[in-house]
Amino acid sequence: MELLSIIVPCYNEEKTVEMFFDELRKTLVGINYEVLFINDGSQDSTLEKLRELADSNLNVKYISFSRNFGKESAIYAGLTMATGDLVGLMDADLQHPPNLLPKMIEAINEGYDVAAAKRVSKKGEPIINSLGSKLFYKVFNSISSVKLVPGATDYRVMTRQVTDAVMRLNEYNRFSKGLFQWVGFETKWIEYENIQRFAGESTWSVGDLTRYSIRAIVAFTTLPLSISIVLGFIISALAFIYLLFIIVKYILYSDPVQGFATTMCVILFLGGMQMILIGILGKYLENTYNETKNRPIFIIKETNIDDK
Ligand code: UDP
Ligand code: MG
Repeated sequence: MELLSIIVPCYNEEKTVEMFFDELRKTLVGINYEVLFINDGSQDSTLEKLRELADSNLNVKYISFSRNFGKESAIYAGLTMATGDLVGLMDADLQHPPNLLPKMIEAINEGYDVAAAKRVSKKGEPIINSLGSKLFYKVFNSISSVKLVPGATDYRVMTRQVTDAVMRLNEYNRFSKGLFQWVGFETKWIEYENIQRFAGESTWSVGDLTRYSIRAIVAFTTLPLSISIVLGFIISALAFIYLLFIIVKYILYSDPVQGFATTMCVILFLGGMQMILIGILGKYLENTYNETKNRPIFIIKETNIDDK
């Protein structure tokens, strides 16, 4: 029977892990599964709770980090440890309702490579957060060639093939939502209403979310590096028009302020040149940056060539 590995990052979740596992167990009767808890340097008794769960349940495994590395690192650790034919990803706070799991597994049995949850409402969320996330999706999708689906969550079940593909993207600054989109494959979106956290508190402040958004944009597009080159050309073009204007004015009225025309020429010309040169540096930096990420050049979904 197929094994489903469920990865659950946990940071200060002492109040939720037991309840979470209880709910999960109830939903997954008859399914062969393991739960991989990643304790991301919690300062509360999360680790003790996980040890207890693992002692009384053979299908509970845990990894405990030496400090808080962040949810993205916890997800990656989970992916590398998961042995299942199917790999799932969930939050520990019951904001990702376990009762979607059977639907996700069904979708994969129907032939989808990924089944992922999509929030259709932001009910109960602070207005600043939903406005912020709207703005983020607008900006991200307009400048990145990888498009994000608004409302998409990390809550998903993937086939082994997709899991391996995501792991091949082993860059350090991870933005999983983007990486999941980047690898492609057929995704079935399962919609659900937003649910409040079961207990404890969200650890994301507005500052964290802003930093995370910037990290996501920097990881997925290098467009800002090219801004300078565009600006350089615009400034140079405007400078040239202005120069013509100064020359015509000089011919018609001569030069009322000595040296003004030449000074202007030098400043405008150098300014434009500098912007263009910074832009060229940006282009090389962009290429170096993309090469160092070492992303696979392509990902194969199917072939009739045997490589084993
Ligand atoms: N989490 C983590 N490391 C962190 C922050 C959060 O592993 O540094 C986990 C957390 O325990 C939860 C999931 O990531 O299982 C989502 O976190 P949270 O509920 O705080 O985020 P939100 O639901 O507000 O997006
Ligand atoms: Mg949450």
